[in-house]
Amino acid sequence: MSGLISRLRQLRHSDQAIAASVRATLLESLYASPQSLVIGALTSSGITGIVAIVSSNRWLIACAVAIALVAGIRVIDVIRRRRQPRRAKPSKNSWAGRQEFLYRSGALGYSALLGTFGLLTLIHSDDGVLQLLAVTTTIGYAAGIAGRNAGRPWIALSQLCFASLPLTVGLMISLQPLKMALAAVIVLFVVAMMDITLQTYGVILKATLVSREKAALAEHHAAIARRDDLTGVANRTAFREWFEARLQALGDGDGRLAIYWIDLDRFKEINDSFGHLAGNALLAGVAQRLDAAFGATGIVARLGGDEFAVIRDVDQQIDAVATGEQIIGLVEQPVHHDGRALCVGASLGIAIAPTDGIDADTLLKNADLALYRAKDSGRGQMRFYEPLMDEKIERTRDLGAEMQGALERGEFHLMFQPIFDLTGERILSCETLLRWTNRRFGVISPAEFIPIAEDNSLIVVIGGWVIREACRIASGWPADVTIAVNLSPIQLRSANLPTVIMSALATSGLAADRLELEVTESVLLEDIDASLAALDAINRLDVRTTLDDFGTGYSSLSYLTKFPFQTLKIDRSFIADLEQSPASVAIVQTVIELAAKLGMQTVAEGVETHAQLDQLRRTRCDAVQGFLLAHPMPANMIASMLAGAGFKAQGQS
Ligand code: C2E
Ligand code: CA
Ligand code: CA
Repeated sequence: MSGLISRLRQLRHSDQAIAASVRATLLESLYASPQSLVIGALTSSGITGIVAIVSSNRWLIACAVAIALVAGIRVIDVIRRRRQPRRAKPSKNSWAGRQEFLYRSGALGYSALLGTFGLLTLIHSDDGVLQLLAVTTTIGYAAGIAGRNAGRPWIALSQLCFASLPLTVGLMISLQPLKMALAAVIVLFVVAMMDITLQTYGVILKATLVSREKAALAEHHAAIARRDDLTGVANRTAFREWFEARLQALGDGDGRLAIYWIDLDRFKEINDSFGHLAGNALLAGVAQRLDAAFGATGIVARLGGDEFAVIRDVDQQIDAVATGEQIIGLVEQPVHHDGRALCVGASLGIAIAPTDGIDADTLLKNADLALYRAKDSGRGQMRFYEPLMDEKIERTRDLGAEMQGALERGEFHLMFQPIFDLTGERILSCETLLRWTNRRFGVISPAEFIPIAEDNSLIVVIGGWVIREACRIASGWPADVTIAVNLSPIQLRSANLPTVIMSALATSGLAADRLELEVTESVLLEDIDASLAALDAINRLDVRTTLDDFGTGYSSLSYLTKFPFQTLKIDRSFIADLEQSPASVAIVQTVIELAAKLGMQTVAEGVETHAQLDQLRRTRCDAVQGFLLAHPMPANMIASMLAGAGFKAQGQS
């Protein structure tokens, strides 16, 4: 008994401590079996009705009517509850409070009425059968309730007491020994039933908690599976689902949805120079910043690597532009890591639904095409998708794919364009020009494929092959003819360039001072120190360097003093202007004089007319190159040209 009391005390505390949501679930268990409630209501109000009618006692009749009424109300409540859709979560708790109050009032009222009916029968009727009916109905009801309502133990326990205790009182006050004995038995029965109720409650509570824990864990796992580990924003899967749902919701309405495909500029450099921890911190920082700005109204996702996407509703093109600018601004803010401020930029490709597509695949493809375009136009740019983009970009992509393996398939070959002295009679050097004849696209101009090779870094491998091949071919030429090879900026910065050059020279047996490497001016401006170091390394091998396309970039004459070039190649745009523009004559003249003062040779490229050649002869540059003198030609033609004594350049015949 004392054990039961302490458990009741415990119950008071533990029941208050359980979460409201758990209580709501337990409350649902009261409604889990409406049949039992309906059967209980029908049988007990039926029997009490019969007892009341047979006894013809007005108290019993009044009590039976009240029982039937309360039973009816409770049945209606249960049925109504069954039909009601489950409430949305936010209102669930307040609903649970109200519902529990209703249920409890009905349950306690009903039990009290049944108990009172038993008591009244014992008092007002001498008929043993009627008394038996009233007592067994009430006790049967109490027994059933102990298990049925154990989910809300206070209700079950109160019902048990409210139903049985009036009976006990009725039996005791009869002062008949047998009835008094029955009263004692009922008290013991109540104690036992209380115990059962508490046990059952323990089991139900435990099962409820375990199942909730499982559900929470499953929910947690599902959330993790939809998040990008590194940055915490949505991953590809979640992004895709969200995107598709939003597109569906867009339907035929007049809303518009903008997809921003973001690629970080210079991310690789940060990763390479400061390590991947810095790279990770940067990605996480950028992701959080984007999420703070757009997470609430749209979605921010990491699509992999340094690529992110933002999707949000837009009203007009102008909104889309503003959001794009905001994204670029957010990404450009530095991320601090390990005492360092890490800075990247963003390139954006933007597609807008439904104008640029109505399904996720098309829109993503178009945003990606726009991004490709944005990156093409330099860093920190955004581009909206335009239908014409497809063709050019697709060709670029296809060429990029074809370029893989092109070297192995032998699709590349070299052409050589002679560079003459001013008389046009002696070949001083030949410029190596790369050609690509692809199995699918045919002949492709280097102006088109070199930038692609630079983008996918294949230029390093292909350029290495050019150097080796050029050295091999030139080693068969007369010893006073040099060979020029164009060098891409990417090659110039690749760490193994000196090794590539040394090995090409060693294998071919070509003297180092017969090799000249041409680099364009734009390279130098990007990273002066690195370019200087690379050029120095080349010069230390005794290999000569030429500044190509001089005058096209943001040429600053002061660079000439800084960089160790042996030759300056004046861009063909100046040569083309020589005939019409006295200014060009003056520029070319000045450049040649300055170069001479700095100890550099000068080559004029793109010489197409006799007038140009005559002018160059007057301004006295050192060498000339151009279609007037010779077009680029295959190795065997150059070889026979060089072997044939007393040849004349084409323009000289
Ligand atoms: P570049 O270095 O300025 O090469 C000279 C280009 O001018 C060649 O075009 C050549 O055919 C052309 N050319 C020569 N004489 C004349 C002329 O009198 N008039 C006109 N209008 N053009 C003339 P090509 O072969 O199409 O090469 C284009 C560019 O591709 C080259 O410009 C060079 O930057 C790049 N390139 C070619 N081969 C290689 C290579 O092996 N490696 C690298 N990195 N770039 C290369
Ligand atoms: Ca060149
Ligand atoms: Ca050039």
